[in-house]
Amino acid sequence: MRRLRMINAALYPDGGGRLYELAAENGVWRTVRGQESAVHEPDAVRLADIRLDEAGRGQTTVPGDPSAGETAALDLEGRMLLPGFVDSHMHLDKAFTLPAVPNRSGTLLEAIENYRRAVSSFSKEDIRSRIIRTARLALSFGSTVLRSHLDFHLHAGADVAMRTIEAALEAREKLRHLIDIQFFPMFPYHAHEPHYADLMKETIRMGMDGIGGAPHLSSTPDDDIARLFRMADELGCPIDLHVDENDDPNVRTVLTIAEQTKRFGFEGKVTVGHLCSLAGMPQHIADEVIERMAEARLKAVTLPAANLYLQGRGDKGVVRRGVTRVKELLAAGIPLAAASDNIHDPFHPFGRGDLLQIALITGYAAHMGSPQDMRQLLRMITVTAADVIGLEDYGVKPGRPADFVILDARTPEEALTMLPAARWVGKRGRFVFASVAHGRWLEETES
Ligand SMILES: [Zn+2]
Repeated sequence: MRRLRMINAALYPDGGGRLYELAAENGVWRTVRGQESAVHEPDAVRLADIRLDEAGRGQTTVPGDPSAGETAALDLEGRMLLPGFVDSHMHLDKAFTLPAVPNRSGTLLEAIENYRRAVSSFSKEDIRSRIIRTARLALSFGSTVLRSHLDFHLHAGADVAMRTIEAALEAREKLRHLIDIQFFPMFPYHAHEPHYADLMKETIRMGMDGIGGAPHLSSTPDDDIARLFRMADELGCPIDLHVDENDDPNVRTVLTIAEQTKRFGFEGKVTVGHLCSLAGMPQHIADEVIERMAEARLKAVTLPAANLYLQGRGDKGVVRRGVTRVKELLAAGIPLAAASDNIHDPFHPFGRGDLLQIALITGYAAHMGSPQDMRQLLRMITVTAADVIGLEDYGVKPGRPADFVILDARTPEEALTMLPAARWVGKRGRFVFASVAHGRWLEETES
């Protein structure tokens, strides 16, 4: 039996930072017990004692001879432990393409256009290795579950479009012991060729998890949204759309999406990302839109890094920031996650798949810095993000998968201030990433 026992873990977000003793068996949490105070076990080992196993398979051994019955506890010494971060909106297939696909204007439209032109030049191997590289990077910062949108360029031919789907499935298979990944192909909005619909359905049959798209870019968004819902209904799969990623407050496809969600009985199964135009709407209209969203039980994702970079490009002086109404959506009870979006590609030149960094950017963009806000930010990359992507067995609770991240920080304030480099990540009760190198000062300073 594979066992892991930890003591003095400051559990967040649901533990409120209280110290816990945690035990996992065979990849599942068994014990989640609050401690009265810090405990001392003489034979406990520390995080710095974690070593990669000799086979170098990414496994780690906690010293203390786990084969000899009771495993020595791992003493977290009050560091934070959270359920593994959930990055609810990524583009793993496009990450790290910036050197090959530039974007001179920095606008969303040029990014789309340039990427569209370059897409046939990427081999399946290129795409697969980018997905693997980026997923591993995200894992090293603490994300144990990812949802990635995938480009699906039928205009370039079925073989180009399907290449990305196959690359994604192969990458997921290679990473299956390390990280869980959901894939949502972005279906095109000029999908008039009859065999296009068959190809789209084929991707779901092959293992894609749901239907994506960006209908606000279409000249006929209402028809496209209706078509996507009919397909999702037929296939019985969830929907996750890029919605109103535009500064124009008159762009309101979210209202059509809310309407269709109710018509098809899809409440709770539809996720809307971006919602940039919502930020620019007059207050009374924004209030109305948010109310419609809540009625349809839409789930939402803010992508503050990419939107701060891409939006407001036509503005001078007071520049719109493009980040949606984070606090108002939260106040309306709409599950709102914060996620990475693009990483080092023509859409967003920065990013590293670190959700703590994204939480910090959300804090800046949405004016969230109070102690309650900081706890809310951590929820937006953990429990709320899990809800947004429909995970039912998530969290540090008995019977749930033992996926976790340990930070070299003791409070949310410390975590968001320091963005600690040192992290330890576990998947199914097994350490899969451990920070082993720490910078060390060469001299001490008297305090
Ligand atoms: Zn996106």
